[in-house]
Amino acid sequence: MDFDTPLAEAWVRAIAAAVEKEQGRLTELDSAIGDGDHGSNLRRGFSAALAALDGLRPAGPGAVLTKVGSTLISKVGGASGPLYGKAFRAIGAALPDPALADPTDPAGPAAVAAALAAGLDAVRTLGKAVPGDKTIVDAYTPAVAAFRAAAGAGATLPEAAAAAAEAADQGARDTVPLQARKGRASYLGERSIGHQDPGATSTALLFRALADVTAS
Ligand code: ADP
Ligand code: MG
Repeated sequence: MDFDTPLAEAWVRAIAAAVEKEQGRLTELDSAIGDGDHGSNLRRGFSAALAALDGLRPAGPGAVLTKVGSTLISKVGGASGPLYGKAFRAIGAALPDPALADPTDPAGPAAVAAALAAGLDAVRTLGKAVPGDKTIVDAYTPAVAAFRAAAGAGATLPEAAAAAAEAADQGARDTVPLQARKGRASYLGERSIGHQDPGATSTALLFRALADVTAS
């Protein structure tokens, strides 16, 4: 299985559906240690991203994800908009177009791992967070590591995506005991301890959506 245009679009659709379904939970988490808008921010962003894709056909998978990134940057005012926006733009820019790819080097698991890693680099460059700061980075970093390890061990795309989703879930849960050192939650100091980070939680949703669409 290659990461082709239908898969890229299915991923965006699955994220939009997951954000819709989990909006209340994301809002609750962001109400505890932020300003309560993370669910609505992402809902607005991904529904706009879906609408933007309608005017885009035909396009390669990279162009699809680049468009998602630009839309998130323009439609989401919170910290997460530019962070996820830059991530999707970097993933899109790094993803080879399977239609053009050398048949010996298709947009398979290793190429997808590299593209997802480029997204993480973009988040880190913009946000300056490191693992342990209680942010998106805490779910995204183990997800990329797991995806890469699986791809390196010869896993298929669905297998690598499933491993990444598990790692992201665990990374999000592991933010509970952390004290926030970046973003709005850092203003709370020690009072940010004991709550799961909303951004790490939404990152886990993104990776779960990828695992779901590659599995089906
Ligand atoms: P805002 O904080 O502006 O209200 P959101 O509520 O949409 O924006 O997003 C909050 C999430 O953004 C946090 O839970 C955290 O995971 C993430 N975040 C904030 N600052 C950073 C950063 N510098 N690097 C990575 N992620 C960050
Ligand atoms: Mg917020």
